[in-house]
Amino acid sequence: MPVTELICINCPRGCHLKVDEKLNVTGNFCPRGAAYGKQEVTNPVRVVTSTVRVEGAELPLCPVKTAQATPKGKMFEIMSMINKAHLKAPIHVGDLVIKNVCGTGVDVVACRNMKKV
Ligand code: SF4
Repeated sequence: MPVTELICINCPRGCHLKVDEKLNVTGNFCPRGAAYGKQEVTNPVRVVTSTVRVEGAELPLCPVKTAQATPKGKMFEIMSMINKAHLKAPIHVGDLVIKNVCGTGVDVVACRNMKKV
């Protein structure tokens, strides 16, 4: 595996990282960059954000996100599940939208309060 070059996204400093075939990370100013570099090469993860259709609220869509980062390779599958979901008002921040989405062990939760109209 060749050396992988990345920019650490954990803080605004944006260190330029290099990860070699033995998962040695260089270019990081702090330990978070080393952890990020290894994770990004072996199992990249992302928080997925989207919206879900809502019935009975003033607005038609509610913003949602995965409660933790999920494997990047599952993003399209997760988006497909989110696109099929719908909610009924009232909704509160943190309400469960999809439990254990796509078997990741991570829930999709609501990110906005929405009153019933
Ligand atoms: S390695 Fe540390 S200092 Fe550099 S961008 Fe990442 S979190 Fe920030």
